[in-house]
Amino acid sequence: MKTLDIGIAGAGPAGLAAALILSRQGHRVELIERFGQASPVGSGLMLQPTGLTVLSALGLLQPMLGLGRRIDRLYGADAKTGRTVLDVRYDALAGGRFGLGVQRSALFGLLHAAVLAAGISVRTGVTLTAATTSGRKAVLKDASGGVAGAYDLVIDATGARSAIAAQAATAPTVRELAYGAFWATLDSDGLAHDPTALTQRYDRAKVMIGILPAGRAEPEDRERVAFFWSVKVGDADAVKRAGLQTWKADIRAHWPDCGPLLDQIEDWDRLSLARYCHRTMRPPVAGRVVFVGDSAHSTSPQLGQGANMALIDAATLAHVLSLNDDVDAALAAYGRARRYHIGLFQMLSLAFTPFYQSDSAALAWVRDRLVATIARVAPAPALLASIVSGTLIDPFAAAGLKECDWAAVAAEFGRPRMIEAAPSLA
Ligand SMILES: Cc1cc2nc3c(=O)[nH]c(=O)nc-3n(C[C@H](O)[C@H](O)[C@H](O)COP(=O)(O)OP(=O)(O)OC[C@H]3O[C@@H](n4cnc5c(N)ncnc54)[C@H](O)[C@@H]3O)c2cc1C
Repeated sequence: MKTLDIGIAGAGPAGLAAALILSRQGHRVELIERFGQASPVGSGLMLQPTGLTVLSALGLLQPMLGLGRRIDRLYGADAKTGRTVLDVRYDALAGGRFGLGVQRSALFGLLHAAVLAAGISVRTGVTLTAATTSGRKAVLKDASGGVAGAYDLVIDATGARSAIAAQAATAPTVRELAYGAFWATLDSDGLAHDPTALTQRYDRAKVMIGILPAGRAEPEDRERVAFFWSVKVGDADAVKRAGLQTWKADIRAHWPDCGPLLDQIEDWDRLSLARYCHRTMRPPVAGRVVFVGDSAHSTSPQLGQGANMALIDAATLAHVLSLNDDVDAALAAYGRARRYHIGLFQMLSLAFTPFYQSDSAALAWVRDRLVATIARVAPAPALLASIVSGTLIDPFAAAGLKECDWAAVAAEFGRPRMIEAAPSLA
């Protein structure tokens, strides 16, 4: 592939990773971001073996492991009865896999610093509204209708509510999800929790409270957790009007251990409301414009795959561009390469989400009685572990990646901060 001029819209995980890989392949890359200063949005997230393998290929695994918290288990219990509803362990699969709870700012900080160190041009404060193809060129338009740049290839990485994707010939149908969540990043001091687990409490499918150990934003920072409380987006204003104390009392009633976290929330500004939408762009290509990350596929974060899929998208796109002399052939190959992995996880997310976030008492009953029982019987534990790992279908080969040898990673980087003994709630 000859050297291309590539314009990348959006400096989230997908855009930053794509910029980094493609620049290392010798392409001239320009990143354009709407914020005056590129910065992360949101609280914490889980990196899976998929996303961690991409970070490893970028040489960023070691610093990421140093900042994040190793997660070995996803554990959820009924808030009233204490009955185990969900217990997924990575070690149900051979290979020593694990997840990593991270603060968004830690992931963003590493990728952004690497982009700047690589000398990649980053233009900020430009809101992009559309991308069109004219012959062999793709043109990015800004909010004033002016041309922000003309390139051999435009990569749209502007996220779930991408205006560029909405304008594209292959624009996906958007399904707004009724439930979202209040999220906050909070100090973990004094909190009795399992630092090796994403831990959740449920009351039917209407209430879901979670604590994700998310490590540090910077090496010298203190440890934090991402705390979330599921809410119907349409009810969020009424919840706020009822007052912070009422909201806290409700959470304490469901999960008294959350006290030290709630004490840190003094006003609603400490919480951000995340809204989710489900959409899949097929194919994730329109002319010389290609879509990666949430702009190509977004869903509820129930399976914790979004940022990982974004990183895999970026790696796969760069790989097919390195294999094909023709840009259009490469883009078609990208669509084919990501089709089944994305399709499967979008389908699973759509299927699983109502069991945890919906008004259905029946689905919650099935989850608590039937699914919880089946989940303990082989091969279900291994299957669930491979769903959570993002590896139910191998996404690595099509991205030209080899999955990390996790035992070797643990041996090289050590496990001290990752799995120190701590009180378990389970
Ligand atoms: C509450 C919550 C929890 C989540 N938990 C997890 C998890 O545990 N694990 C996981 O893997 N994923 C999780 N996700 C999903 C994950 O956050 C996304 O999949 C991931 O951030 C997608 O990355 P992206 O780069 O495609 O998009 P984004 O992160 O949305 O980045 C888009 C970038 O584009 C910029 N931009 C947007 N519009 C424009 C415009 N018009 N012009 C210029 N720039 C623009 C934005 O400012 C931003 O910098 C979660 C999501 C939410 C909301």
